[in-house]
Amino acid sequence: MNEFESAVRNVGGRMLSMGIDCIQVNVGLKCNQHCAHCHVEASSSRTEMMGWPVMEAVTEIASDLAVPLVDITGGAPELNCNLPGFIEKLKGTGRDVQVRTNLTVLVMPGMERVATFMREHEVRLVASLPCYLEQNVCAQRGTGVYDDSIKAMRLLNSLGYGIDGPSLDLVYNPLGAELPTSQEKLESDYRRELRERFGIEFSRLLTIANMPIGRYRRFLRERGSSEEYTSLLKSSFNKATINGLMCRHQVSVGWDGTLYDCDFNLALALPVNHGAPDHVTRFDADKLICRRIVTGEHCFGCTAGSGSSCAGSLV
Ligand code: SF4
Ligand code: SF4
Repeated sequence: MNEFESAVRNVGGRMLSMGIDCIQVNVGLKCNQHCAHCHVEASSSRTEMMGWPVMEAVTEIASDLAVPLVDITGGAPELNCNLPGFIEKLKGTGRDVQVRTNLTVLVMPGMERVATFMREHEVRLVASLPCYLEQNVCAQRGTGVYDDSIKAMRLLNSLGYGIDGPSLDLVYNPLGAELPTSQEKLESDYRRELRERFGIEFSRLLTIANMPIGRYRRFLRERGSSEEYTSLLKSSFNKATINGLMCRHQVSVGWDGTLYDCDFNLALALPVNHGAPDHVTRFDADKLICRRIVTGEHCFGCTAGSGSSCAGSLV
């Protein structure tokens, strides 16, 4: 048993699935950005992209299981040319669909129709914006990202996103080697600043801790703060987060159809294990619904402080 599982067991918890309320689908690692904190190390040179047969298999599984939500991520999911067809197929089965967008892709030349398509299909959006200040966003996500993000949010607001249309949630993650501050407090800061500066509205702010893997691990090492950050995560272990951990309520599908407990395990190439089937072509709900989760030291990133998941803080 690893250190994380021992910590969970010591407070009476078990890292077992509690059901599948969401299927998270990583449709590819290609991205128009190259962020310093990216856990999947996405970039414009990545070529891994989900093909149509895997999307069809996922749609069938989502429909059979009647999962309430399919959460699509990447990379920049919009760069997968199969995305519109996938969304149409999923919506046809009555599933709620959410796409994680980096915003800037929506204002790239040639991508003008994407936001309107999302609106027409009532797709919920979760958008990365690690600060309401330009210098902080550009430091983490690249020059010009702030201006394009503002442009994209204005476009989305004009379509009703975050106002009277589908939800537009924003995602905050810290710039340095620290844990996110209070989600509630930060949300009111974001709302005030974005409204006053740009007249921009959004639905909710989700705070997410940086996972010490992928490009962020390198970022920490380069600054000599890798060990310090790992110690912070371990010493901030909060048992109240255990039942809400996203891996206990979802399954993740990689671009090639491999099944993972979460997108972080996907980034680490750690498929579901302990006897559970690890590919969409062998999907077995009975086995997956009670599976034992694959864990590691990185899992302390989800249980630190208020906890962290793709849906924000846990407590
Ligand atoms: S963090 Fe998001 S936007 Fe940035 S490189 Fe990774 S996938 Fe792309
Ligand atoms: S990293 Fe993944 S497997 Fe580990 S606790 Fe977080 S969600 Fe669960």
